Amino acid sequence: MKKAIIEARNVSFTYEGAASPAVSGVNLAVREGEFLAILGRNGSGKSTFAKLLNALQLPTGGELIVNGIRPATEDDCYEVRKSCGMVFQNPDNQIVTTIVEEDCAFGLENLGVEPAEIRRRVDDALFSVGMSDFSQASPSMLSGGQKQRVAVAGVLAMKPRIIVFDESTAMLDPIGRRDVFSLARRLNVEEGITVVWITHFMEEAALADRLVVMDGGKIALEGTPREVFAQTDKVLSLGLDVPEMMKLADALRKAGVNLKPGLMTVNEMAVELCRLR
Ligand code: ADP
Ligand code: MG
Repeated sequence: MKKAIIEARNVSFTYEGAASPAVSGVNLAVREGEFLAILGRNGSGKSTFAKLLNALQLPTGGELIVNGIRPATEDDCYEVRKSCGMVFQNPDNQIVTTIVEEDCAFGLENLGVEPAEIRRRVDDALFSVGMSDFSQASPSMLSGGQKQRVAVAGVLAMKPRIIVFDESTAMLDPIGRRDVFSLARRLNVEEGITVVWITHFMEEAALADRLVVMDGGKIALEGTPREVFAQTDKVLSLGLDVPEMMKLADALRKAGVNLKPGLMTVNEMAVELCRLR
């Protein structure tokens, strides 16, 4: 088994002046190369946890180690941010310049990377997200999905080991959504980048290696998507939905049909129902 690249031990975080913690006693190890999805209703602490991973906030309790670093000083935080990139929900908030390739270079320029190296990394990153043809374009001319791909390229140029996507598909149309999700999956599979994918789309979560459901700042459920979604009543009580086929399977079981556990896709359901005839 691969080693953990993220290790949270009893991690808590309370915002200044807040009565209760936004993240509370979270224990979680993310393996290198894993694609982990995080679900949870609004206010359950997902974005706060993402900010802790990125050292935008530091835990107020417990211990969080990201890529071997337990950030304490400003320099540590900086190192964490280089190894753990973030893609946010609104692509417009991440774009800082008026030309795509300048936008991708922005982070590297701030790091003082030499120009030839910046050129190489930006070209590679734009190629990797399929946006090479748009290197001279104005971000304002791009679709939401394309803007998110540029944002991913800006992160990739920093050569991160981990990328956290915080509801990065929430504002996109279905095509852009599929596009950005499959880009994240491809970077995970082909380049071995560890992905933490925060989402409220069940069909995206169903495609992760592992799934964590947060509630009230705590981890309420954890397991493979099949294991988690099989607990339909619990998932519904946490303010979430389950994939359609799991709901159908649950209803059929309650009506006395003897289906095997873990059915999640249309194809699996069809095969199982044919077997029962
Ligand atoms: P999620 O991303 O799951 O919607 P958040 O991490 O944004 O959840 O929020 C968790 C809790 O922390 C909520 O109760 C929210 O109101 C609170 N919170 C989030 N950001 C701040 C902030 N900047 N200051 C104070 N409280 C905050
Ligand atoms: Mg959030």
